[in-house]
Amino acid sequence: MKKTPFVTLEQVRKIAQQYPTPFYLYDENGIRKNARALKKAFAWNAGYKEYFAVKATPNPYLLQILKEEGCGADCSSDTELMLANAVGLSGHDLMFSSNVTPKKDFQLAHALGAYLNFDDYNLIDFAARLFSMPDTVCLRFNPGGIFALENHIMDHPGEAKYGMTEAQIYRAVEKLLALGVKHFGLHAFLASNTTGDEYYPRLAEILFSLAVKVHKRTGAHIAFINLSGGIGVNYKPDEKPCNIERIGEGVRAVYERVLVPEKMDDVALYTELGRFMLAPYGALISKVLHEKDIYKHYVGLDACAANLMRPAMYGAYHHITVLGKEDQPCDHLYDVTGGLCENNDKFAIDRLLPKIRVGDYLFIHDAGAHGHSMGYNYNGKLRSAELLLEKDGSVKLIRRAETPEDYFATLDFSEFHDRLTTGNER
Ligand SMILES: *Cc1c(COP(=O)(O)O)cnc(C)c1O
Repeated sequence: MKKTPFVTLEQVRKIAQQYPTPFYLYDENGIRKNARALKKAFAWNAGYKEYFAVKATPNPYLLQILKEEGCGADCSSDTELMLANAVGLSGHDLMFSSNVTPKKDFQLAHALGAYLNFDDYNLIDFAARLFSMPDTVCLRFNPGGIFALENHIMDHPGEAKYGMTEAQIYRAVEKLLALGVKHFGLHAFLASNTTGDEYYPRLAEILFSLAVKVHKRTGAHIAFINLSGGIGVNYKPDEKPCNIERIGEGVRAVYERVLVPEKMDDVALYTELGRFMLAPYGALISKVLHEKDIYKHYVGLDACAANLMRPAMYGAYHHITVLGKEDQPCDHLYDVTGGLCENNDKFAIDRLLPKIRVGDYLFIHDAGAHGHSMGYNYNGKLRSAELLLEKDGSVKLIRRAETPEDYFATLDFSEFHDRLTTGNER
């Protein structure tokens, strides 16, 4: 399937006159349409709710759009909770799925009335010393071993630091019942960026079966199952996008087979999707600064891995469109690089693209989740702006670009005769 940018070269040229590249651009129409499709796919479950994984794209304007579409927020730190709370999310619109949790984070999550999703058995005593337990809490399960679908290994839960063993789940429920907890949620996250439609139904089967066992063994009321994140996107043009309608129907079949016969048909389903909600609806847009021909052909951008870390970190594929050259043949082989002093700073290696010239704008696809949020400041590179392409086609600045003043803000230059010159003080 061909990947098509959601803006044209003309639009980007115009935007760049006001907001210099590199910048992230998000597509409001795409975000809303996708959020509605997800909601529809799970509409058969009366209590269904998506808690957007804030870490994927922590921007209040985007959280607000998702909130308007009925989503809550999944947070894993106090700052993420503050951000979600700033757009008016509190109480059971917040899921707190943390691990290695500091006191202050638990305290804020509790104060805001968020669902607490306990990653570990020992964290229960830790939290019980801080506050009295709420009526409803969630427990994170780790089945261990290898998680496989149709003989294909998806991931290795046995190697993952998250969640509790089955035996610990039972003990945790008993302990929490004794502490006055009335209702329980169960959660697991077993594979990331899954591309088939089988992941959620298989995970649902594991969690629903566990829910039945927990209920039978302890009498505890299971209020919800949290399927967490993990639905992927087709980063490569030859991959098929997930069919969310089929995924919803797949989960429904398991619900009817496992939960309904046990009269557990009041169990709400929650999701904590990040990537699926935003990745395709955000792009990193960057300009070609230089060309270089040595043993390979390089094009160097004004963005670097500090703006989008995934290719450097995991060798992740991000499709690239040279704006204005959508219909030209891809007959030139390039490494597309940034300017960090690290050789893994490459957005693409041996990529066939149209003939590129200095000044061309590149649209780096599917960067709307785990993109800007994973940015860093290595080599003194500054984080870029984030822009929203609104419903009516206008463009709104939703995060300004960092300045040198931001970069130096945590340093005190008074012992150096205040000799920092950023060029902006005159
Ligand atoms: C990262 C994360 C998510 C979101 O994952 P995606 O792959 O972006 O869907 C959801 N829940 C938890 C606990 C996470 O750590």
